[in-house]
Amino acid sequence: MSRQALDDLKRQISLREYLQAHDWKPARQLSRGRLMGLCPLHQDHQPSFLVDPPKGLFYCYGCGRGGDVIRFAELYHQVKFPEALALLHQWRGLPPLLHEVARFYGMQLHRHSEGVAYLEQRGLRSPELIEHMRIGYAPGGCLRGWLTQLGYSLSFLRQAGLITTVGYDAYKHRVVFPLESNLYGRSISASAPPHRFLPGSKGGLYAWEHARRFPELILVEGLFDYAALWQAGFRNVTCSLGTHLNARQFRQLCDSARTVYVAFDADWNVSGQNAAQSLACRLREHGLNARTILLPEGHDPNSFFAQGGDARQFQSLLEAAQ
Ligand SMILES: [Zn+2]
Repeated sequence: MSRQALDDLKRQISLREYLQAHDWKPARQLSRGRLMGLCPLHQDHQPSFLVDPPKGLFYCYGCGRGGDVIRFAELYHQVKFPEALALLHQWRGLPPLLHEVARFYGMQLHRHSEGVAYLEQRGLRSPELIEHMRIGYAPGGCLRGWLTQLGYSLSFLRQAGLITTVGYDAYKHRVVFPLESNLYGRSISASAPPHRFLPGSKGGLYAWEHARRFPELILVEGLFDYAALWQAGFRNVTCSLGTHLNARQFRQLCDSARTVYVAFDADWNVSGQNAAQSLACRLREHGLNARTILLPEGHDPNSFFAQGGDARQFQSLLEAAQ
């Protein structure tokens, strides 16, 4: 790779953006736009990681390492220079690719009645909801052809996890929901594993830019729960894609003083309730007002609405939350 190509890559990928996408957050601002935060490369307890965004450079006073975005990728992912370059290229190319995939699967939803039928079976039928969440359908066996025709290389599609190593579409017979840097696919057939993500982080909380404005938030664990609440008129809702919040999701919830209603599944084995309780405790330790919603046993918010629950009944559960 030429000097020129390396400089282009570094210009296209801002160090700050790359750090933030890997859950880094500045603890304070210094002069000349420089930032200081915890070091993502070693166990850091007080901010010793200096970032100079205009120059695209970092230096850690704790572990003594520093450099540009390529050096950071090498150290963070523990790979050699050529692999770091490949990772950065892939990272830069992923958003436009995922946008294309969401558009394609969005068109497929209306061409395959089984996708729509599955949504209806889960109680979801509002066209506004489908548009808002950009819900699509992956029939399988057609994405690869579409994307290679658009000029995407097979190796890039494999790296992104959209095509399997043997060359098939990775998402097959799945209702799909685009995420900020991933793609969730729910199998409509009982014989396949129900949940599928692309390799890599699930990202932050779902639709966070929209949800963060509300002083009272409902947090659910699944996208179908989010969808059911949204369709029932609740807009102050977000989703953690599982009961375990990653560091970025937890920080997002704590970024202002708010009330969080945790509405995880009321599993028969009480694992959802336990996860909700322990999350509520952690949120309270961080100064938030946190409550857990008690759903009827065996229900999640999606099944609550799908089996006849309405907004007024859910509102009473919110009011009764402890
Ligand atoms: Zn360090």
